[in-house]
Amino acid sequence: MATQTSSQTSVTTSSQTSTRIIEMSKLYAPTLKEDPGDADIASHKLLLRAAMMRKVAAGVYSFLPLGFKVLRKVEQIVREEMDAIGCQEMIMSIIQPGELWKRSGRWDDYGPELFRLNDRHDNVFALSPTQEELITDMISGELRSYRDLPKSLYHIQWKYRDEVRPRFGLLRGREFVMKDAYSFHDTRESLQEHYDQQGYAYGRICERLGLRFVPVEADSGQIGGKVTVEFMALADAGEAEIVHCDCGFAANTEVAIAKINCELYGTPDATINEIETPIDGSIPALAEFLGISQAACVKALAGKDADGQVYVLFIPGDHELGDVKVSKIINGFELLDEQEMADMGLKLGFIGPVGLPRNIKVVADQALQNLPRWLTGANKAGYHLSGVAPEKDFQVDIWADLANTQDKDCCIECGRPLILQRGIEVGQIFQLGTKYSESMGAYYMAEDGNEYPFLMGCYGWGVTRSIAAVVEQYNDEAGIAWPISIAPAEVCVIPLALGDELETTARQITDQLAAAGIEVVIDDRDERPGVKFADADLIGWPYQVVVGKRGLADGVVELKKRQGQIKSELALDSAVTELINLIKADRAQYL
Ligand code: ATP
Ligand code: MG
Repeated sequence: MATQTSSQTSVTTSSQTSTRIIEMSKLYAPTLKEDPGDADIASHKLLLRAAMMRKVAAGVYSFLPLGFKVLRKVEQIVREEMDAIGCQEMIMSIIQPGELWKRSGRWDDYGPELFRLNDRHDNVFALSPTQEELITDMISGELRSYRDLPKSLYHIQWKYRDEVRPRFGLLRGREFVMKDAYSFHDTRESLQEHYDQQGYAYGRICERLGLRFVPVEADSGQIGGKVTVEFMALADAGEAEIVHCDCGFAANTEVAIAKINCELYGTPDATINEIETPIDGSIPALAEFLGISQAACVKALAGKDADGQVYVLFIPGDHELGDVKVSKIINGFELLDEQEMADMGLKLGFIGPVGLPRNIKVVADQALQNLPRWLTGANKAGYHLSGVAPEKDFQVDIWADLANTQDKDCCIECGRPLILQRGIEVGQIFQLGTKYSESMGAYYMAEDGNEYPFLMGCYGWGVTRSIAAVVEQYNDEAGIAWPISIAPAEVCVIPLALGDELETTARQITDQLAAAGIEVVIDDRDERPGVKFADADLIGWPYQVVVGKRGLADGVVELKKRQGQIKSELALDSAVTELINLIKADRAQYL
């Protein structure tokens, strides 16, 4: 049985740098042996199993004591990096008047993702998904002169987005913690300078969290503006797809412009030839039927815009249509269903540019501009045309970048093949320009005496999402292997028995580590060694010190570094000093 005295469990006070000791016997950390049924990726499973968090509703989680420690540490790293670039911390409300959102136009534009509520007087409010409206309204009238600029403010706060598909635990929640910062400027140079500082700070945050990451060119989505970079933590579980190149080029495939190599079917000077193709008309079927590569086919997609104008889009046969790219060219683009196609006289699987009804607009991917003859549908079921020459046999209304970048596409900068990887967007920085200052009426007086709208930047960091990203990069079959910078504690001391000299030695080691400012846990639970080892691996303390009978007889304790499961022995009389040095060296890697 465990024998504990109150003096053994109190806070160590022998040094000013001492930290509070966590005793597993008192800790609320109900670890789970089995994977929870609805968890599908490592971070989701392990954060639940290691008792870091519990599910409240779809995409809504509570943080238990260990998870809360991690959350606080991540917040602190983010805070230090924001403070270091002169961004000032504040806290803004979660409940935001609907009127502000109506003024910016986003009450409608944000759609069902915005959580809305009414008060008892039937005033409408939104739960904050982001804070541009509120802060722009706040500073307008208070920041008056160019002399007050630039200013940059941030807060670390809960955010609410009623996501269509909340999933993957902390990766895509409906309630999550974000650091969001907003900056106000009078010149492009000033905005650019702070934007660069934020980018630098985001790189530092990634490094201090231990994240392998790539900053990529991105789409600005709902937020607005044109200049934007996403910070992608590399992980197979990531929902984003990115391409990067050794030359330094990197972009989200949603926006990446790449050199796509199309293959010519036939000869450059061939004329139109009708080919009977008794197949379902899909590109894979066509390629197989003719014994050619899909890159030699041209894919057609029919859709309409918000006003009902019908378009036929042509892209290289081995590529997919990029939704984000299309949305920039055609407002409210939607694919036609089969009935709508039939109504327009379009034959599913056999659509081609020759002989289309006149009221249909033709948009073609710019990669096809270099392909002198196309293999396309014949607008007749069961037939294709080869040798079709663009701008000769038919007119293209718009040439545009339509196809999502994919494996084997080449870098637009240097021509080498791009590397395709999955990523988790942990942060994004934007140059907003005057989008919000104009719509919210936020102006300052310039040196020339005239009033101008503020130039703005905004900078979001997913605090809770980045915790999941770290777990995706640092886990194995036994559990989480936290980088020391954000582990719930740095070392766990495990006595293999209680009530005798093993426990006394373990408590001495624990006290000495705490006195040196090391964050230390003692597993003083009356549990079998196997249970303690499994929990220590699952929770992921960076170091474990095992105090066992056989070791003590030889004057040693066992040390395990969780990352890589590297075991060694430490002589009892120098164990604490050695461990302190190891931990300090480990910490230094993340500073
Ligand atoms: P996504 O494209 O993944 O939906 P977003 O581009 O809409 O994200 P931003 O508006 O750029 O997100 O928000 C800033 C940061 O907040 C993101 O980079 C991400 O780290 C985090 N974040 C956004 N949505 C969520 C969410 N549903 N759950 C957890 N974190 C989120
Ligand atoms: Mg984003």
